[in-house]
Amino acid sequence: MCNTKLAIIIPCFNEAEMLPTSLEKLWKIFNKMITNNEISPESFVFLVDDGSTDNTWGIIKKAYKESEFKVKGIRFSRNFGNQSAIIAGLEHAYNLGVDAAITIDADLQQDENKISEFVEAYKQGYDIVCGIRRNRTDGFFKKFCANSFYKVINFLGVNIKPNHSEFRLVSRRTLEILSNYKETNLFIRGLFYDLGLKTKDIYFDVKERKFGESKFSFLSLLALAARGIVSFSVRPLRIVFFLGFSISFISILLAIACIVRLILHLNYLPGLELFETWETFATGMEILCIGIIGEYIGQILTEVKARPRYITDEELT
Ligand code: UDP
Ligand code: MG
Repeated sequence: MCNTKLAIIIPCFNEAEMLPTSLEKLWKIFNKMITNNEISPESFVFLVDDGSTDNTWGIIKKAYKESEFKVKGIRFSRNFGNQSAIIAGLEHAYNLGVDAAITIDADLQQDENKISEFVEAYKQGYDIVCGIRRNRTDGFFKKFCANSFYKVINFLGVNIKPNHSEFRLVSRRTLEILSNYKETNLFIRGLFYDLGLKTKDIYFDVKERKFGESKFSFLSLLALAARGIVSFSVRPLRIVFFLGFSISFISILLAIACIVRLILHLNYLPGLELFETWETFATGMEILCIGIIGEYIGQILTEVKARPRYITDEELT
């Protein structure tokens, strides 16, 4: 009998429309993997209700009762965000003694049929198996923002594959290492290539969401992107330094030009408009730099407070 105890972790926020269909699909794959001796019968699906306001928790409770403990779950006291839901699932899976854990979205936009391949890679000795999107089903704007984000974060020196997703397998060893990461503002996607563990990428085709809609607003994605950058790179702070230095240098040149104009009584070098434009530009840059530094200060503040990443209301384990 196979002794790989696997947890499939699903973060859920207002997924009452989607969850029954997704669970049914997962169930078939899960049972087939047990029958084929790919995973141990002690494996389970772990659902994290991230403070849903619809019937998501009702569906999880029903699945728990009907599944003879193959479905487990917790419910947050409020919405703490997808990253906290994933980390809660990973922490619980670790405490429940799994050998490996896979995270996948509740809408199964990632290809659940790849789960078997992920487990196979784990058995070949990979500690981390990352699901990379071969395509994106998002609209033009979201696609553009996502592509720009990966370009910027790579430019800032963060080792993260473009079109990375939260569809990933991690070994028990990885979970143990992760349990030592105490930061509140975890950007999970950035962590895994940083650990230096044996990692494999598996590409999958993204499907359309069948029911419900994306749970991320533009602002929440922006906040996530800022968290990702601030968590893994201090280069923006160096860019602020070089910006300050360059602007000061150009200002000195302009001042020299001004003195030359006064001395030689030239009235064509440089014009007043140039100074005005320059002043507006420099002020904009100043505010931008304060904003960048502010992001870091905000993150330091939340880290110093060290508040819990989530609060659990109910637990079915
Ligand atoms: N999610 C969550 N908390 C949130 C937002 C989303 O747990 O605050 C879950 C959501 O239920 C889904 C996963 O995170 O299982 C990915 O969300 P979604 O499919 O809406 O993201 P998208 O596919 O648009 O990137
Ligand atoms: Mg989705």
